[in-house]
Amino acid sequence: MTEIADRAARVRTVPHLLTEIPGPKARAHIAFDQAFTSPSLPRAYPFVPARGAGCMIEDIDGNRFLDFNAGIAVNSTGHAHPRVVAAIQRQAELLLHYSASDFFLPIYAELARELDRIAPMKGATRAFITNSGTEAVEAAMKLARSHTGRQAFVSFLGAFHGRSYGAVSLTGSKAKYHAGFAPLVPGIFHIPYGNAGLDELEDRVFKRLVPPSEVAAIFVEPIQGEGGYVVPEPDFLPRLRRICDEYGILLVADEVQSGMGRTGKMWAIEHWDVEPDILLSAKGLGSGLPIGAMIAKNEVMSWKPGAHGSTYGGNPIACAAALETIHLVEEGLMANAAERGEQALAALRPLVRRHDRIVRDVRGRGLMIGVQFDSGTTADAVQWASFQHGLLVLEAGDDVVRISPALVITAAEIETGVRLFSEAVAGVDAAGA
Ligand code: PMP
Repeated sequence: MTEIADRAARVRTVPHLLTEIPGPKARAHIAFDQAFTSPSLPRAYPFVPARGAGCMIEDIDGNRFLDFNAGIAVNSTGHAHPRVVAAIQRQAELLLHYSASDFFLPIYAELARELDRIAPMKGATRAFITNSGTEAVEAAMKLARSHTGRQAFVSFLGAFHGRSYGAVSLTGSKAKYHAGFAPLVPGIFHIPYGNAGLDELEDRVFKRLVPPSEVAAIFVEPIQGEGGYVVPEPDFLPRLRRICDEYGILLVADEVQSGMGRTGKMWAIEHWDVEPDILLSAKGLGSGLPIGAMIAKNEVMSWKPGAHGSTYGGNPIACAAALETIHLVEEGLMANAAERGEQALAALRPLVRRHDRIVRDVRGRGLMIGVQFDSGTTADAVQWASFQHGLLVLEAGDDVVRISPALVITAAEIETGVRLFSEAVAGVDAAGA
């Protein structure tokens, strides 16, 4: 069989489980892994990936799973999209690396121009390209301080912004991310996500803790990701924009998880017609290659040469993957995300009534869908049962299972995935009854 025919056959027959899960090779590999890797890695369950195509991912025992994780919302165009692979191969033959910080790498500026074209800001923007989400957050913190001359930041409880010192200091989702790492970056104020948080900001934080004239930026995920796929109230983001305008505070939209077409629009913040001053992207931007971006309004990107740079940020291979990803998302994947998301939400919503003992909520936009359970233990059990059924999903927040497949997912794959997920939920419900 040719590679292409073989790929098509593998994608058609999914899931396809040959061994117990995890299989013998996976178990042996995990024992090997645990002797040499950092124990800090927060492994969710014993899945050992070997190769993938589209929404199919195969483990080292040859078991094929339907992937509703997409490498945690990263493989936006599916595993090994042929156009992304070809773009990477073409670029690899031309130039593997040249520092875009020190010289004028053409593809870096080309990507920055494309990011300007798709940015949710009306005026001109510029981009600083990074290797990851957390680096985009760090860049935004530095830019916000240097541009405004102010020191303080506001972020939200439940937020996840990354694990480097600045980003982890903004993070407010789980205490374990801070445990043992103090002192964190000072001058960060956390408020509840949603309108209650904005009440607290105006009534308490600005009155009693820090004057708004000392706040450089407010960091917000337009839809919270690691916090549990939380869609805010309709007037939350417009109100946040008004507060920022009133006090000259920069609004930073962290779209590392929610961006790149995942919610059915290029950027989730566009669902509310709100313009950020700075927008952060990563994850889905490179379809799996390490790349992120800080996009800022021209007038905000006011820092001087030498203020910030990076050896690898904007590596040409990652840029090539990002350019191809942007084109694929615009050519149809974003529209597919909107449609398939509606299909999945409609098919999952009945779970709330059917399993009212354990399912609390089904919510989301596009292919950013969260199913909330009565407890973390139940969410954990559903994640495990799905894995046993050949479906990969991932917990988020305290008690949520997230569904974030690649944007190439088909109607049939959504149907299969929802069926497997519903069987997993039914099994967990019956076991606890
Ligand atoms: N911001 C958000 C909203 C994220 O979801 C994440 C990653 N989960 C990050 C930032 C950090 O990205 P990275 O892991 O690439 O540093």
